[in-house]
Amino acid sequence: MRYVDINSLENLDELQERLDLCKNWNCVKEELSNLSQKTCWYCEHYITGSGYAEIDHWRPKCEGQYPWLEFTLRNYIYSCKACNNTKSTHFPLVDEAKKASCEIELSNEEPLLLNPCNIDDIRSICYDASGRLYATKVEMSEKVKITKQILKLDTTARLSEKQRAFNQLNEKLKYIKDFQKIQMLTDILIEQINKLITYDEGNEFVWSFCMYIESWLKDYEDDFTEIPIREKIKFPQDFCEVYLGVA
Ligand SMILES: [Zn+2]
Repeated sequence: MRYVDINSLENLDELQERLDLCKNWNCVKEELSNLSQKTCWYCEHYITGSGYAEIDHWRPKCEGQYPWLEFTLRNYIYSCKACNNTKSTHFPLVDEAKKASCEIELSNEEPLLLNPCNIDDIRSICYDASGRLYATKVEMSEKVKITKQILKLDTTARLSEKQRAFNQLNEKLKYIKDFQKIQMLTDILIEQINKLITYDEGNEFVWSFCMYIESWLKDYEDDFTEIPIREKIKFPQDFCEVYLGVA
C-alpha cells in the first residue's frame, strides 16, 4: 500500500464537476493513475494496459452501502483488477450501528479498512523482509489484519512477485551490512537501492520498499558508525513528508 494525496490534484474541483456531468468514473481514471505512477494504490503493482486499471469505491457504491458516493472523487481508489475484485463490497466498521447514511455522518464511522489516502493509516503500517504488511501501532493491528484478509494481500499468488522484489532488495541491504567498511562497494549498493525507490524508473513497490528500508535503517543504524548510510538513501519527497514527517 502506498500513500496518495488526492488533494495534490490541481484541478480537483474541475474533475469532480466532470464526474458529476458524465457520471462515469473512467473519465477521471487517467488523472488518478498519474498520482501513483500507474501503480495500484492498494498493492502497488504496476498496472499495464487500461483494461486492467479499475476504480475501486473505497466505500462500496452498491445498494445498502453507500450508493450516494458513487460519483464522489474522494471515494475513489485507483486499483488493479485483483484488488478491486477481491475487495468487492466489503467495508467493515468497528460499530456497524454507526454506518453513515449521508455525508455528515461519515466522520462517526470507524472503518476497519486501510485507506491509501489517509495519512494516519499509512503512518501506522510497514513491511517486513518478505514484503508482508504489518501494523506499527498496536491499536492498528486489527485494521491491518482485516485489510489484508479483505484484499487477500498475503496469499501466495499475490505475494510471490513482491517477495521476489524484496529478496533482491534484502540481498543488497545484507551486502551493505557485511561490507560496511568498504565505502566504494557500499556506495555502489546504495546507488542501486536508490534506483529502486525512484518513480522515474517505473518501479513498483516504491512505498513498500521505503517503509522497509526505513525500519531496516532503524534496526541497524548503530552498526553504521564509520559510513553514514541514512544520508545517502534518497527517499522520494512525498515519502519524506508523509511517512518521516520531514519537509
Ligand atoms: Zn492491487
